[in-house]
Amino acid sequence: MKLSKLGDKAVHAMRRLLVALCGIMAAFAVSAQSAPPPDADALIRAFACRVLVGKGRVVLPVSVISDPKLTMLSLAERLAGGTQLNIIYNPKLMNRYRAVSRLFWLEHECAHHTLGHTLRTSAVSDAQMGQDEDAADCTAIQTLIKGLPGQAPMIDAAGRRVIEADLARLMPGGGYYKPGTVRARHIEACAQAVGG
Ligand SMILES: [Zn+2]
Repeated sequence: MKLSKLGDKAVHAMRRLLVALCGIMAAFAVSAQSAPPPDADALIRAFACRVLVGKGRVVLPVSVISDPKLTMLSLAERLAGGTQLNIIYNPKLMNRYRAVSRLFWLEHECAHHTLGHTLRTSAVSDAQMGQDEDAADCTAIQTLIKGLPGQAPMIDAAGRRVIEADLARLMPGGGYYKPGTVRARHIEACAQAVGG
């Protein structure tokens, strides 16, 4: 069916909005170089992402959902008028990463929620999308290093090196996603900024 010009624009805007939900590109072309870690979902089930909103700092819980059909590693989405927050991940793709790296990706998606990226209701530029990814990476690694308020750090320097190595090895980059090697260097700079 031929779409009208307005229709084309609408579809484009919708695609951009979906992309704005900040999925992470699947690395389908990259073969795993090590056996999948056991019981990957146990760590994911234990993960908690909570978003504080409004003057009353109301806590919005975030559901973490496994979807084997997801065509990317993971994404953050906000549904139902903004009150239902999800992190969706492909378990097979997630299993390519070591445990500490899976934790990083979950924190990355959580950061898209806490930084307000999933609140956007209109298309944004590729440049802005790239900035969002950088910000989510930075917030994620710093959260892991510092720990949640009142809690212990979640990773040490060795864990950070694992995350950086996995990114460099498994993330191809493309579109507004920078290659994993570049993201790893950015993450290292973010870590150094908080003494990690
Ligand atoms: Zn992202």
